[in-house]
Amino acid sequence: MNLTHFRFETDSDGIALATWDMPGRSMNVITPEVMAELARIIETVAGDGAIKGCVIASGKDAFSGGADLTMLQGLGIEYAKLRKAKGEEEAMRVFFEESRRLSLLYRQLETCGKPFAAAIHGVCLGGAFELALACHFRIASDDDKTRVGLPEIKVGLFPGAGGTQRVARLMQTGDALQMLFKGEQIRGLMARNMGLVHAVAPKDEIVAKAKEWIKAGAKGVQPWDEKGFKLPSNKVHSAAGMQIWPPANAIYRRETQGNYPAAEAILSAVYEGLQLPMDLALKVESRYFAKILRSKEAAAMIRTLFISMQELNKGARRPADVPPTKLKKVGVIGAGFMGAGIAYVSAQAGLNVVLVDRDQEAADKGKDYSHKLISGQIMKGRAKTADRDALLARIKATADYAELKGCDLIVEAVFEDPKVKAEVIAKVEAVIGPKTIFGSNTSTLPISGLAQTSKRPNQFIGVHFFSPVEKMLLVEIIMGKKTGKRALAVALDFVRAIKKTPIVVNDARGFYANRCVGAYIREGHLMLMEGVPPSMIEAAGKQAGMPVGPLSLNDEVALDLALRIVKATKAQVGADAVDPQQEKLLTIMVEEKGRAGRKNGKGFYDYPEGGEKRLWPGLADIQPRQMKPEDVDMAELKNRLLVAQALEAARSVEEKVVTDPREADVGSIIGFGFAPFTGGTLSYIDGMGAKAFVDLANSLQKKHGERFKPPRIVRRMAKEGGSFYAAPAKAAPAKAA
Ligand code: NAD
Repeated sequence: MNLTHFRFETDSDGIALATWDMPGRSMNVITPEVMAELARIIETVAGDGAIKGCVIASGKDAFSGGADLTMLQGLGIEYAKLRKAKGEEEAMRVFFEESRRLSLLYRQLETCGKPFAAAIHGVCLGGAFELALACHFRIASDDDKTRVGLPEIKVGLFPGAGGTQRVARLMQTGDALQMLFKGEQIRGLMARNMGLVHAVAPKDEIVAKAKEWIKAGAKGVQPWDEKGFKLPSNKVHSAAGMQIWPPANAIYRRETQGNYPAAEAILSAVYEGLQLPMDLALKVESRYFAKILRSKEAAAMIRTLFISMQELNKGARRPADVPPTKLKKVGVIGAGFMGAGIAYVSAQAGLNVVLVDRDQEAADKGKDYSHKLISGQIMKGRAKTADRDALLARIKATADYAELKGCDLIVEAVFEDPKVKAEVIAKVEAVIGPKTIFGSNTSTLPISGLAQTSKRPNQFIGVHFFSPVEKMLLVEIIMGKKTGKRALAVALDFVRAIKKTPIVVNDARGFYANRCVGAYIREGHLMLMEGVPPSMIEAAGKQAGMPVGPLSLNDEVALDLALRIVKATKAQVGADAVDPQQEKLLTIMVEEKGRAGRKNGKGFYDYPEGGEKRLWPGLADIQPRQMKPEDVDMAELKNRLLVAQALEAARSVEEKVVTDPREADVGSIIGFGFAPFTGGTLSYIDGMGAKAFVDLANSLQKKHGERFKPPRIVRRMAKEGGSFYAAPAKAAPAKAA
């Protein structure tokens, strides 16, 4: 057989091996060409009497990451074109047929009469795991890198090539739904325990073991196609089903607030599909898949969380003419909360780290954090003792600045005090080499101002992490007025090395992310002062799609920090720049009541020891008046919370703080959890259309004031048409001095 993407050979036992190995790609993906070749493989195996069965394996380090999402995105574009040309009905017919091709192909594989086995090493996700699920036998390697899973939900889709039906026939319904909702990646051994794969073996043995399975006389029939097959959780309409479906509905509502059509589609496809034989069940799944694939939410999430994120990770904003730096040694100054985390993620990436603090004890304490984190990983079976030893050996904790010699990059994370930072900058610059880049993790001080105390401002840049560093994916890179392109390139090489996602922004108060976060929290404060019951404010935040309500979020960030920022803004920008009601609330909370947030066990919430946090009843006494719950317009609260952030994002673009819509969107979701189903702050505006957004903002402005005034950039879009993405984002390198 003449194939490009697979190697196909049959051994002397008559067992075929199809090795998936796409030329010129580091990872196998499902493309139309792969589907065509797979169809030929199935035909050959089914039609050749000398072939007993077939093992599908990968010739790469990983099995496959799944379907090419740009291919799916392309289907939507074709649909829109066809609808214009031939009308809705014809467009929908073609779209449905096209979007279920993979599902039909996999069904053909599992019913062709010959046994197929999947030998899985490395990641095997999405459409690729659906291929494995269609195989009659799955064996995974016990390697640390092996992961199976159906993560489609994370980009607003769901497994539409049989995944929902096969998983629900392999596992208890509750477990299957949970797996599909969470989209988690599962290790080999765990997958076997869950019933998703049949066996686990060392990497070098999986193909041989899969062949043995065929040789031993395996049947090419799935359990669900056998007579008398029983569902793992019994029938949907049964006493057992009654235990499952009502709570499943409630959990779905709690987790999604009804914002994710893909999650609802999973629930429906499994519920309806389990009542049908497989072929019909797959058709039901395909119907839902075609609907979800055309949804606004899927389009926005695929663009932001897959395409844009990948582009940013690959260096879309990196100046192409600066050769890549292979960082070996980084210095972290300040071994406190942030510095300790930065040291950990750097050492985890294999970099040597010099962790400096004022004295040895403080530096050691910062290093202990890495010890604690990696020990946690060992407890969970995700690391070995040898990993801990190697990691800790890479971190040198010291009070001696001379150790910084030879560092490629410095990340400063000392107290947020310009004087302390200036002293540190001078001390560091006295010892580092001429090529070392200096990055500051400041969250509020302008980079250009700090750079004034540097002798080499073109090598000075902002490298802003989010807490907790080891969990948060975003790093905001801030260009000072004089930051040069080599500083940018090195900072981006560093972010790539530690496997985080960068956005590059220009210097401004709050940079980008904290500006939006600040607007969200302020809206919560103002609602409180208007008399809205606190629990309704928090519920509105979650219903709008935010991970936590604004009051909770402020408790995490700390109320005293919020008050300090309000005071600093007032002093530096003027009294008009802060809302007096917000200042009043924070002053009472912090200065009169001593409530600083979770860190001192009391903020907008109380944190009883051993119990769950609950809203502080004393808030009622601080509110100047109280609204009756029935007078509160929840829809308006939700709008206010999202619009306030989107406006801040639009202003950031207008002020050229953010220069690429992809960064605003990606940064908003991974930096502060902006309602992911919208695709991010700017996609939220584009999604409803600039005109509708301006109308909404205007109506909020009338009622709540100037902060809702839409900036010129969106007003112009509303008038002239256009969107933030209308001019396709180019891989524009950031402006550098
Ligand atoms: P922290 O108080 O926990 O840690 C600061 C550390 O710096 C302390 O260990 C202190 O001993 C050390 N330090 C102070 N002066 C020093 C000096 N002259 N030389 C060496 N070490 C010195 O503070 P943090 O929360 O880790 O914040 C550090 C920086 O990160 C600040 O600029 C802050 O704005 C920024 N930041 C904080 C967060 C956050 O969530 N906490 C998020 C992003 C950025």
